[in-house]
Amino acid sequence: MRYNPPGPGSRRELEACLDSLARKIILRNERICFTCGSSNGLDWGHLFERRHRGTRWDISPSGGNHAQCNLCNAAHEATPGIYEQKYIDKFGEEKFVALRERAHSKHKFTYLELEEMIREREECLNAIVGRSAAPSAEAST
Ligand SMILES: [Zn+2]
Repeated sequence: MRYNPPGPGSRRELEACLDSLARKIILRNERICFTCGSSNGLDWGHLFERRHRGTRWDISPSGGNHAQCNLCNAAHEATPGIYEQKYIDKFGEEKFVALRERAHSKHKFTYLELEEMIREREECLNAIVGRSAAPSAEAST
Protein backbone atom coordinates (compact mmCIF):
# COMPACT_ATOMS: atom_id res chain seq x y z
CA MET A 1 0.00 0.00 0.00
CA ARG A 2 1.39 3.40 -0.92
CA TYR A 3 0.23 6.35 1.07
CA ASN A 4 1.54 9.81 0.41
CA PRO A 5 -0.60 12.37 2.20
CA PRO A 6 -0.68 15.77 0.47
CA GLY A 7 -0.43 19.15 2.17
CA PRO A 8 0.36 19.50 5.88
CA GLY A 9 2.23 16.47 7.13
CA SER A 10 3.47 15.49 3.69
CA ARG A 11 7.09 14.48 3.31
CA ARG A 12 7.86 17.74 1.53
CA GLU A 13 6.27 19.71 4.35
CA LEU A 14 8.16 17.80 7.05
CA GLU A 15 11.45 18.27 5.19
CA ALA A 16 10.81 22.01 4.79
CA CYS A 17 10.13 22.21 8.52
CA LEU A 18 13.40 20.38 9.26
CA ASP A 19 15.30 22.69 6.89
CA SER A 20 13.96 25.74 8.67
CA LEU A 21 14.75 24.41 12.16
CA ALA A 22 18.25 23.19 11.25
CA ARG A 23 19.06 26.54 9.57
CA LYS A 24 18.01 28.49 12.68
CA ILE A 25 20.03 26.23 14.99
CA ILE A 26 23.19 26.33 12.87
CA LEU A 27 23.07 30.12 12.43
CA ARG A 28 22.46 30.70 16.13
CA ASN A 29 25.30 28.38 17.16
CA GLU A 30 27.89 29.63 14.67
CA ARG A 31 28.65 33.30 14.10
CA ILE A 32 31.53 33.04 11.66
CA CYS A 33 32.10 31.30 8.33
CA PHE A 34 33.36 27.74 8.87
CA THR A 35 35.79 27.97 5.96
CA CYS A 36 37.13 31.56 5.98
CA GLY A 37 36.16 33.04 9.35
CA SER A 38 34.20 35.98 7.93
CA SER A 39 31.11 37.12 9.82
CA ASN A 40 29.46 38.74 6.79
CA GLY A 41 26.42 37.35 5.00
CA LEU A 42 26.30 34.02 6.79
CA ASP A 43 24.19 31.23 5.39
CA TRP A 44 23.74 27.54 6.00
CA GLY A 45 26.47 25.52 4.27
CA HIS A 46 26.07 21.79 3.66
CA LEU A 47 29.30 19.81 3.50
CA PHE A 48 27.39 17.21 1.49
CA GLU A 49 24.66 18.13 -0.96
CA ARG A 50 21.13 18.60 0.32
CA ARG A 51 19.92 15.52 -1.54
CA HIS A 52 21.89 13.46 0.99
CA ARG A 53 19.15 13.26 3.60
CA GLY A 54 21.32 11.28 6.04
CA THR A 55 23.29 14.42 6.91
CA ARG A 56 21.01 17.21 5.64
CA TRP A 57 19.56 18.11 9.04
CA ASP A 58 22.55 17.20 11.19
CA ILE A 59 22.89 19.73 14.00
CA SER A 60 25.73 18.15 15.98
CA PRO A 61 28.89 20.31 16.26
CA SER A 62 30.89 17.77 14.25
CA GLY A 63 28.10 17.22 11.72
CA GLY A 64 28.15 18.29 8.09
CA ASN A 65 26.28 21.57 8.54
CA HIS A 66 28.00 24.83 9.39
CA ALA A 67 27.63 28.54 8.89
CA GLN A 68 29.30 29.78 5.74
CA CYS A 69 29.55 33.23 4.20
CA ASN A 70 27.79 33.69 0.86
CA LEU A 71 31.08 33.67 -1.06
CA CYS A 72 32.33 30.39 0.43
CA ASN A 73 28.87 28.86 0.14
CA ALA A 74 28.69 29.79 -3.56
CA ALA A 75 32.21 28.48 -4.20
CA HIS A 76 31.54 25.15 -2.48
CA GLU A 77 29.83 23.48 -5.42
CA ALA A 78 32.83 24.00 -7.71
CA THR A 79 35.49 23.49 -5.03
CA PRO A 80 34.12 21.18 -2.32
CA GLY A 81 37.67 20.28 -1.27
CA ILE A 82 38.05 23.53 0.73
CA TYR A 83 35.18 22.76 3.10
CA GLU A 84 36.20 19.10 3.27
CA GLN A 85 39.77 19.96 4.25
CA LYS A 86 38.61 22.45 6.91
CA TYR A 87 36.33 19.78 8.31
CA ILE A 88 39.17 17.22 8.41
CA ASP A 89 41.55 19.77 10.02
CA LYS A 90 39.00 20.45 12.74
CA PHE A 91 37.40 17.07 13.42
CA GLY A 92 39.75 14.52 11.88
CA GLU A 93 39.75 12.15 8.93
CA GLU A 94 37.86 9.43 10.79
CA LYS A 95 34.86 11.63 11.50
CA PHE A 96 34.87 12.84 7.92
CA VAL A 97 34.80 9.29 6.55
CA ALA A 98 31.98 8.29 8.94
CA LEU A 99 30.01 11.39 8.02
CA ARG A 100 30.46 10.77 4.30
CA GLU A 101 29.22 7.22 4.76
CA ARG A 102 26.15 8.52 6.54
CA ALA A 103 25.57 11.09 3.78
CA HIS A 104 25.65 8.36 1.14
CA SER A 105 23.43 5.95 3.07
CA LYS A 106 20.40 4.76 1.14
CA HIS A 107 18.16 4.94 4.20
CA LYS A 108 14.87 6.68 3.53
CA PHE A 109 13.46 8.33 6.63
CA THR A 110 9.94 7.28 7.59
CA TYR A 111 7.32 9.86 8.53
CA LEU A 112 7.78 8.90 12.17
CA GLU A 113 11.53 9.45 11.95
CA LEU A 114 11.05 12.84 10.28
CA GLU A 115 8.55 13.87 12.95
CA GLU A 116 10.90 12.68 15.70
CA MET A 117 13.75 14.72 14.18
CA ILE A 118 11.47 17.77 14.11
CA ARG A 119 10.65 17.33 17.79
CA GLU A 120 14.35 17.00 18.71
CA ARG A 121 15.27 20.11 16.76
CA GLU A 122 12.39 22.12 18.20
CA GLU A 123 13.62 21.23 21.70
CA CYS A 124 17.18 22.09 20.76
CA LEU A 125 16.15 25.46 19.31
CA ASN A 126 14.00 26.25 22.36
CA ALA A 127 16.98 25.52 24.60
CA ILE A 128 19.24 27.80 22.53
CA VAL A 129 16.67 30.61 22.48
CA GLY A 130 16.10 30.20 26.23
CA ARG A 131 19.84 30.32 26.90
CA SER A 132 20.39 33.49 24.90
CA ALA A 133 17.28 35.17 26.37
CA ALA A 134 18.23 34.50 30.02
CA PRO A 135 21.20 36.90 30.46
CA SER A 136 19.43 39.85 28.81
CA ALA A 137 16.33 39.29 30.98
CA GLU A 138 18.58 39.41 34.04
CA ALA A 139 20.37 42.51 32.82
CA SER A 140 17.12 44.40 32.30
CA THR A 141 15.97 43.94 35.94
ZN1 LIG B 1 33.61 32.33 4.06
